[in-house]
Amino acid sequence: MNKEKGRATVLDGARVAEAIRREVACEAAAFRDEHGSVPCLVAVRVGNDPASAVYVRNKVRTSEMLGLYSEHHELPEETTTEELLAEVERLNARDDVDGILIQLPLPRGIAEARVLEAIDPAKDVDGFHPLNVGRLTLGRMGFAPCTPAGIIELLTREGIRLCGQHACIVGRSHIVGRPLAQLLLQHDATVTICHSRTQELALLTRQADILIAAVGRVGLIRAEHVKPGATVIDVGMNKITDMVMVRDFFGENSAARVEAIQKRGFTLVGDVHPAEVEKVAGHLTPVPGGVGPLTVAMLMRNTLTAAQQRRGVL
Ligand code: NAP
Repeated sequence: MNKEKGRATVLDGARVAEAIRREVACEAAAFRDEHGSVPCLVAVRVGNDPASAVYVRNKVRTSEMLGLYSEHHELPEETTTEELLAEVERLNARDDVDGILIQLPLPRGIAEARVLEAIDPAKDVDGFHPLNVGRLTLGRMGFAPCTPAGIIELLTREGIRLCGQHACIVGRSHIVGRPLAQLLLQHDATVTICHSRTQELALLTRQADILIAAVGRVGLIRAEHVKPGATVIDVGMNKITDMVMVRDFFGENSAARVEAIQKRGFTLVGDVHPAEVEKVAGHLTPVPGGVGPLTVAMLMRNTLTAAQQRRGVL
């Protein structure tokens, strides 16, 4: 644990993700020995969004590393809703496919909700189908979205108490904030959800034992938002290119970030101001290397679970 005087302990999401990946690889091997096949994930990407291409490549590569089989289906930007629905139907009908992932965002003009609802809920490894959303809300077994599920794994495996604690989530998206609230409730936390219309944000966030920022605004959460000693989870992933901002956000740790900008043209910053918040928080996730790796690891876990459920193992 990386606890220096006056500095938050780093919650190492990359290390926890590695542990989850090892467990999945081990169970996938046992699954193969028993069933003579490996869990299969199909990732569908529509259009030319470069960030989506990187995310999907990463997911496919990780699944292969863990001994899962995966396919990457690339469809052109002009794909219609009907064509994408037909692709989903083909994948639903394939018995060898355990998990279907539609990479978001879809190009404008495609009816995202219709597409997500068309996925067989038993293969919905992203947990976005209304049936799985409903199951999560009712506390029943189903697929929880990967980012919130990964955050819960991180907190519980790192020994952060949830029962009776006040958790405050900034952000109410269907992908992160809302499902995370459900999961935290299931772990007996008291949950506050904030959003863009919330008044007096700092007044609410400062009461939280666990503060989760899932907003998409560079460094929104500053020292004034954080209760001393709180656990702070930074979900945000924002690119910055400005050297002045880098020095403000990273202070004496700026050198590696400046180098990243010189090499790649940008560096990643979360929704939390790291230099300020690390002086107040008890625990803090880094960006990158915090929540991001957990999201992919939980997708692998969900794919394995889908395969096990479809073959009656669970
Ligand atoms: P989103 O769908 O854009 O939702 C953002 C939420 O933040 C909304 O609920 C919005 O409120 C709220 N918000 C915006 N400005 C605010 C403000 N000034 N004060 C308080 N709340 C505010 O975003 P998302 O998909 O949840 O993603 C959030 C961030 O997490 C992004 O940076 C994204 O890249 C990152 N992310 C990372 C991972 C990962 O694996 N690491 C996974 C998913 C997302 P309204 O509802 O009122 O508009």
